[in-house]
Amino acid sequence: MGEIPAPDPSLADDPVSLLQGLVRFDTTNPPGNERDCVAWTERLLDAAGFETDTYASDPDRPNLVARLPGDGPAPPLLLYGHVDVVPTEGQDWTHPPFEGVIEDGFVWGRGTLDMKGGVAMLLAAALRAARDEVELAGDLMVMIVSDEEAGGEAGAAYMVEQHPELFADVEYAIGEFGGFPMTVAGERFYPVQLDEKAICWSQLTFSGPAGHGSTPGDGGAMADMARAVTALTESRLPVHAIPPVEELLEAVAAELDAETGALVRDLLDPERADDALATLDQDGGMIDALLHNTAAPTVVRGGDKENVIPGEVELTLDCRLLPGQTAADLERELRGVVPDDIGFGFETLRYEAFPSETDTGLFDLLAETLETADPEGTVVPFVLPGGTDGRHLSRVGVQSYGYTPMQLPETFSFMDTIHAADERIPVDAVAFGADRLTEVVGGYVGGAPAGDD
Ligand SMILES: [Zn+2]
Repeated sequence: MGEIPAPDPSLADDPVSLLQGLVRFDTTNPPGNERDCVAWTERLLDAAGFETDTYASDPDRPNLVARLPGDGPAPPLLLYGHVDVVPTEGQDWTHPPFEGVIEDGFVWGRGTLDMKGGVAMLLAAALRAARDEVELAGDLMVMIVSDEEAGGEAGAAYMVEQHPELFADVEYAIGEFGGFPMTVAGERFYPVQLDEKAICWSQLTFSGPAGHGSTPGDGGAMADMARAVTALTESRLPVHAIPPVEELLEAVAAELDAETGALVRDLLDPERADDALATLDQDGGMIDALLHNTAAPTVVRGGDKENVIPGEVELTLDCRLLPGQTAADLERELRGVVPDDIGFGFETLRYEAFPSETDTGLFDLLAETLETADPEGTVVPFVLPGGTDGRHLSRVGVQSYGYTPMQLPETFSFMDTIHAADERIPVDAVAFGADRLTEVVGGYVGGAPAGDD
């Protein structure tokens, strides 16, 4: 088992060791147990000269806010990240998931991509700002939160609900999700998240005759559930071309050759989108998710006795809705896909959307920083198919940017590797991201002047 390094500010130039230290705290959520990990980051920033405070609804799940006073009048710049990670149970790992082994040029372990890698980058950038006495246009704030992976109730949601005063003068935050390359038709793009799909966890309830398992009849709740799952996994919900995705695809199309560009523009035509998706080489089904509401079956509950046919089966769907779509829209679309002869009850378990208007004032700085480091790449605005703590910050008027810059080998898919076995990040990518965030902290002067975006 690798050692957790002492929280010494000299780790500023060693973001890989910072990452290994973070990975070695088992912060699997549930239950999270982020306390020791957050305390480690607090000691690190405190020793570097930040003012630090923790806030917690549950003492085992604290959140840290650290502040380095700025020299200028700009609003504070907030760098933030979560240190909880998703479970590893039932996954087959090459290296133990909480050791941070370095092999083949990668740091291996749960959270290396989502998002302890990003936390290591932002900690390195923050430590350097303190050590080098960088002239800051405004305060530099760092927030390390618990509980993102379960929705943020003990983390970012708690912070904005119970301590909104902390964010009163903050306009811009940098966190997940973006800054890593995605390849479309052979061209490299760096998406930067400005908005995200709504979470709409839903439950479908199927009913039918209950009875003895020795004399099964036709159909029933279990069979209906199975047919519904098959229908939902074999067909897409309808296409919606929303304005931010139009902008994204126009920006992508402009970088491609005429033929491929036309194919990308076809994505915006509901009649042709699904055919275009089938033709286009895309990374991880990402564009697909930006054109449709999605419904992934995740939990089934039904039956509790081997010889009793259940009269009711519940199916939980992890649905993600495009900005502007409601639970009622979703229910209508689900009923359109599930065969007509299957009735079901529909209930929304949780709905959370990213409510505010997008403020692009920091986008140019983030894009220039990345495009200077990789002149072959193009930075594009992005709507995330998943959910992040950005939606909580948007409730207190903070525009969050998904930006943990990394360069990745062509053969490595970020989207296929997060939350999966053998999550890992290239050693070089951690250093790359730390350097880019360092440049952003140094280059930050507040938002772009009005009319200039
Ligand atoms: Zn994450």
